[in-house]
Amino acid sequence: RSQIEDTVLLLMEQERTIRTLKSRVIRNVSTNDDNYKSPFPGASYHPDWSFASDGSVRRDFAVMLYQSIDGILSNLAMERHAKYRKYPSMIPLKTLDKCGYVTTFPQNIYLVSEIPHQSDILQKIKKTGDVESNLRQSQYALSPAVCFHCYEELAGQTLEHPVILTALGTCYRHEATWRLGNQRLNEFSMREVVLIGTPDFVESERNWWVDCIWKLFGDLGLTGRIETANDPFYFSDDAAKAQHQQMANMKYELVVEVDGGTQTFSIASFNNIREALCKPFRITDAADKPLHSGCIAFGIDRWVFSLLKKYGEDPGKWQPHIAEMMRFS
Ligand code: ATP
Ligand code: ZN
Ligand code: MG
Repeated sequence: RSQIEDTVLLLMEQERTIRTLKSRVIRNVSTNDDNYKSPFPGASYHPDWSFASDGSVRRDFAVMLYQSIDGILSNLAMERHAKYRKYPSMIPLKTLDKCGYVTTFPQNIYLVSEIPHQSDILQKIKKTGDVESNLRQSQYALSPAVCFHCYEELAGQTLEHPVILTALGTCYRHEATWRLGNQRLNEFSMREVVLIGTPDFVESERNWWVDCIWKLFGDLGLTGRIETANDPFYFSDDAAKAQHQQMANMKYELVVEVDGGTQTFSIASFNNIREALCKPFRITDAADKPLHSGCIAFGIDRWVFSLLKKYGEDPGKWQPHIAEMMRFS
């Protein structure tokens, strides 16, 4: 074969890989968004809570929506017999490492440093105010997700029945500067529903959540799609993992369209990670085989932002049935 033929074959192969890697939309709907006009053209506010710091009604209303959307999600979790949890914001580095996070996403981690209780060091700081050269790394990081805590809680256990845990937590990610914006924050609220059980249980429970949240999304009048996704790996040698996640349908994302589709971002992800974490944490069935697990993760700030963008910041002007769903009519 000529060199040109080889090059063409190589390019065709690459194109095929890229095509399979591109997200496949598994659900798609346009409800009533065609004629939708933003109530605040040009306004660029941020789901960071400082966005509502002007003391007007907006701040109260945003907090109310935050509680309301989380209330709806946690009630759904209760229907599924989830156990409620509250986890710390700090997580041992050892736990993150066991989850593979330290070697896969080191750039995302906010580490917690501390100042030793030592009089010479404290005196130095007192004299100079220089904190940076007198600190040391603690054994903790700020938690980048909620679900990692659940694996630590269940580590070493044999489970005879499936377990569902749910918690709302603050998550911290040192996102790349170019990724900030598009509703990507360094500190945000996530509700997770964590599923642990047999392969069938995890997959069918995840599908229940896909259906249920898709319906909620439509009922709230939001527009978008659910598509296959992968985690945003940094290292090029992790590309195979990304491809595997896509091909094996391990991660779905619910992507919302705001401002008539000019802005899109994921407001929830539905993950089935199989044995990946039950194995290192030794969470097993009666035959000592690692169980499967998954999580449904909701970015609460992004839900609030999407609803405010869609319906505006004056609760009196919201459509009554939406207000009723959000329980403020
Ligand atoms: P994205 O798709 O936006 O890159 P991700 O794939 O890293 O996020 P997950 O790890 O699946 O997201 O997190 C679950 C949910 O948490 C996301 O669907 C999103 O709603 C929310 N989320 C994730 N990262 C952020 C962030 N930096 N700021 C605000 N919300 C976030
Ligand atoms: Zn998770
Ligand atoms: Mg994503």
